[in-house]
Amino acid sequence: VAGTAHSNGGGTRVMIIGGDGYCGWATALHLSARGYNVCIVDNLARRNYDLQLGLDTLTPIASAHERVRTWGEVSGQHIDLQIGDICDWEFLSQAFQSFKPDAVVHFGEQRSAPYSMIDRQHAVYTQTNNVMGTINVLYAIKEFNPDCHMVKLGTMGEYGTPNIDIEEGYITIEHNGRKDTLPYPKQGGSFYHLSKVHDSHNMHFAARAWKIAITDLNQGVVYGVRTEETVAHKALINRYDYDGIFGTALNRFVVQAAVGHPLTVYGKGGQTRGFLDIRDTVRCIQIAIDNPANKGEMRVFNQFTEQFSVNDLARIVTAEGNRLGLNVETISILNPRVEAEEHYYNAKCTKLRDLGLEPHILGEAIVDSLLEFVIEYKDRVNMELIKPAVDWRKSPTSVATMSA
Ligand code: NAD
Repeated sequence: VAGTAHSNGGGTRVMIIGGDGYCGWATALHLSARGYNVCIVDNLARRNYDLQLGLDTLTPIASAHERVRTWGEVSGQHIDLQIGDICDWEFLSQAFQSFKPDAVVHFGEQRSAPYSMIDRQHAVYTQTNNVMGTINVLYAIKEFNPDCHMVKLGTMGEYGTPNIDIEEGYITIEHNGRKDTLPYPKQGGSFYHLSKVHDSHNMHFAARAWKIAITDLNQGVVYGVRTEETVAHKALINRYDYDGIFGTALNRFVVQAAVGHPLTVYGKGGQTRGFLDIRDTVRCIQIAIDNPANKGEMRVFNQFTEQFSVNDLARIVTAEGNRLGLNVETISILNPRVEAEEHYYNAKCTKLRDLGLEPHILGEAIVDSLLEFVIEYKDRVNMELIKPAVDWRKSPTSVATMSA
């Protein structure tokens, strides 16, 4: 059935850029298991950021080649692996012409807000890598396969925290007696978030100019680690980031609870965002591929399932941690980011549900299983990496983890 987790890919050729990363790896396996013909494109930049900054994933991940080889043995499905940088046009055009994708899922960007705020060099790298990479993907579609559907990962952080409801990409405005539906105003809160804003504008233009079909998925914060496929073999395990630069809110709190470190709430903790389970990320991508945008359209879906404040998350993790016999405390620390700590937040997220998404809701069972998972690996936790490492106001920043 189209649009459900059980639909059969029927050999649809899907190129997954950033397929060695957290969301991309889970998605590649999810689609490959369901009959899509998958090619992973990745320059391994994410592994390199860890080497540069002295960070590491909680989970011991296999090399990209070993992952793909193991998946072949476990599932009998072949995943094509192309190691290279999408900012390198020669590489991307060859990868595109040899694989001939029907859809491209573009996860392949530098995705940490703190990383982009380390100093000028990291800000410039983030925007160059993200914005130029996306333009190259747009040109590859235009030059080699104008019918290829582009599914691009944006972020809910593109919208910021306006004092009105957040719509899915566009808002209808009446002004001086005239009316139009226009891109929803964007107020990114870091040079990373702004790279996604620039991408959205470039894609909106390319969709109109070249009649390309594009879906921009403004994803919320992803939590969880296990998906049906990544648990099938230890070499398929996904990465799990908990450090102050790449770790995202809930995943980081769970690690803190597991190792007896207080949960570090930034400032007042009223910061509210959209969240989703990684098992829903992979289904959202499948739904977007199965129901492509129209040619010439840049369709926008808000890809999250529930809203929580940082304080809500701390409360949930504390309750579950205490139930498991852990002694969980929370402390408020000086917010390293520049953001509203108490604000209105009401974002729409109906379009993916209308197409069949049945969300996993964050409940006790999920927090429990995440805590149990993390406890299994807790000997690998480096306490030095838990602290926030980058302050938005200071420039250039000394990155605490660099000297660790
Ligand atoms: P990740 O860093 O784990 O994965 C990104 C992958 O892209 C990495 O494997 C990296 O090596 C690759 N990459 C980066 N630049 C590249 C380039 N120039 N050429 C080829 N490959 C390149 O990130 P993730 O958490 O999996 O996020 C994937 C996407 O989803 C990102 O675009 C991110 O902005 C978006 N997103 C993630 C979250 C989240 O909570 N993780 C939330 C909202 C949006």
